[in-house]
Amino acid sequence: MRAFLRSNQPSEALPDSDFNHGHDAAFSAALGKRGWIGMTWPRRHGGGERTFFERYVVTEELLAAGAPVSAHWIADRQSGPLLLRYGTDAQRERFLPPITRGESYFSIGMSEPDSGSDLASVRTSARKIDGGYVVNGTKVWTTDAHRNHFIIALVRTDAPGQSRHEGLTQLIIDLHGDGVQVRPIRNIAGDEDFNEVVFTDCFVPDEQLVGRAGNGWEQVTSELSYERSGPERFLSAFRVLVEFVRVAGPTPTEHQAAVIGRLAAHLMTLRQMSISVAGMLQAGASPAVEAALVKALGNDFEKELPEIARLAAPHADFDNRFRATLAQTLLHMPAFTIRGGTREILRGVIARGLGLR
Ligand SMILES: Cc1cc2nc3c(=O)[nH]c(=O)nc-3n(C[C@H](O)[C@H](O)[C@H](O)COP(=O)(O)OP(=O)(O)OC[C@H]3O[C@@H](n4cnc5c(N)ncnc54)[C@H](O)[C@@H]3O)c2cc1C
Repeated sequence: MRAFLRSNQPSEALPDSDFNHGHDAAFSAALGKRGWIGMTWPRRHGGGERTFFERYVVTEELLAAGAPVSAHWIADRQSGPLLLRYGTDAQRERFLPPITRGESYFSIGMSEPDSGSDLASVRTSARKIDGGYVVNGTKVWTTDAHRNHFIIALVRTDAPGQSRHEGLTQLIIDLHGDGVQVRPIRNIAGDEDFNEVVFTDCFVPDEQLVGRAGNGWEQVTSELSYERSGPERFLSAFRVLVEFVRVAGPTPTEHQAAVIGRLAAHLMTLRQMSISVAGMLQAGASPAVEAALVKALGNDFEKELPEIARLAAPHADFDNRFRATLAQTLLHMPAFTIRGGTREILRGVIARGLGLR
């Protein structure tokens, strides 16, 4: 894996380890060619039938190296597994092989302007007509929608019944199709990596319905174990630690050595937790609570790391590389505890899992 990175990674590593950064079709295609996308999927769909642990090793190395992985990341992590579990054979045949080749990229269409944490309140509607659905509504904060090919959108096909979770459905929508407008939103770092996506009378054929109409809630929540448990939930700030160790040098001060030891100890614990969730996914379980735990603790760690490193490195030690990774990570840090479910929501999931509410 490291040899591959040495010969395929663009000459400059990204200044951070954020999975959302670096949308690079050539890099994703090289990774696909090597068999490192869709690693756990069946061979007949282009996958490698490898274990979740093997996939873990690959994803961890990519992030640690600051490789440009955002193009294929979501499709590999959760859209593909969703289609494997709920999609039709025709959908698997059409969508999975191009994902494994690193050529087809997916976005997550959950959040809306008035609906983030309270996902069941989504209002984007899909009206059934002959041969498909007509979609109207707006999704927001949609990562890479301006660069990806498809979005799997959670929409309302029926009014809520006795439960608010009824009447929700998932559709695969072509982001370049008629009736779809994608407007990038600039983030605090000045980058455009998420978007507003507006659907106006957008026709989606029946073949692009995922699973069963009305079963969207069960399906969307099943994605969350994949979304929340991987090393991207505690490694976003990893490059800061790498650069900190470098500037601290072979004879760090006592305080710097203690900081490195403490951060490394946290990192190893989070890694063990994430690997054990990978084991549960391998066994076919749906470890939603365990995944929420990895993300909640992991996000706290990746938010604390840059601040601890900044205070422990005397200003005179800051060189350009340390400064660049720190600046980049500090600007993106606020998002770590928001994207993929906020800290409060995760704590709610954990409390429910422990029987506390
Ligand atoms: C960088 C980034 C990328 C993103 N990418 C995507 C994407 O690709 N696709 C997508 O669908 N979404 C994406 N999101 C959106 C993200 O999932 C939502 O921002 C998140 O779920 C929170 O929703 P909200 O912004 O509507 O905040 P709100 O739900 O309005 O929450 C506001 C605050 O209230 C708190 N809160 C809300 N409800 C409760 C409660 N019941 N109990 C206690 N506290 C509560 C929250 O914790 C938060 O602090 C992205 C967000 C970011 C920052």
